[in-house]
Amino acid sequence: MTVSTGVLRAEAIRFLPQLPLPKLHALDALPMGHFTKVILELDGLLPGLPAGSWVADARPARDQTMHFLCHPFGSRLVIGLAGGAYGEALARLPEALAVQEGFARLIECVGVSHGRQLVKGAFTDWATDPLYLGGYAYLVPGGGEARVALGESVDVRLHFAGEAVALALIQTCGGAFLSGQLAAERIVAARR
Ligand SMILES: Cc1cc2nc3c(=O)[nH]c(=O)nc-3n(C[C@H](O)[C@H](O)[C@H](O)COP(=O)(O)OP(=O)(O)OC[C@H]3O[C@@H](n4cnc5c(N)ncnc54)[C@H](O)[C@@H]3O)c2cc1C
Repeated sequence: MTVSTGVLRAEAIRFLPQLPLPKLHALDALPMGHFTKVILELDGLLPGLPAGSWVADARPARDQTMHFLCHPFGSRLVIGLAGGAYGEALARLPEALAVQEGFARLIECVGVSHGRQLVKGAFTDWATDPLYLGGYAYLVPGGGEARVALGESVDVRLHFAGEAVALALIQTCGGAFLSGQLAAERIVAARR
């Protein structure tokens, strides 16, 4: 079982018999956090911002922090990153509006005199995508060993993996991969 805790908490998958109580407690302690990337393709490079540099508004509107990765690998892309409630709010917008918002926030950072136009944009809407319902799981204060509890196998057939139950590199693809390896080892061991 490798779906996000967002999908499990939404009961998009039902288990018969129901998951054991410690698993449900662990799920309570691991809601999904939000993180949104707004990808902006410009008609050229922003002056003074070399490949891989970062800019951020020093005084963003309250709870509206967005920072930008400029021109990764020398491309004409600038990628805006927003987390938490602001990231979630962006993900709930239609794509065109989220892209406009991202471009407006970039202009607040770099000023209007840079002379670059937006060619097109895209964004990650994982907060609303029913296959994810968030960016990655975070442990609530007092959540203790919820990642370990959620990662425990229920029986010889039902095993858990994914970033939420990773023992290292939590919240990343690397952690998801490592937890998958551990689950595979448990499955092989259970079949011996
Ligand atoms: C904007 C953003 C940027 C990120 N950037 C990075 C980064 O640069 N590097 C990094 O390491 N991590 C990054 N992360 C985190 C990374 O995306 C996650 O840690 C990783 O995707 C978790 O992998 P996972 O396999 O545990 O879960 P998921 O990626 O959620 O995979 C679960 C899979 O289950 C599928 N699924 C869901 N429901 C069902 C169903 N009912 N039936 C069948 N399949 C289903 C989904 O389609 C999905 O393929 C980023 C996250 C966000 C939100």
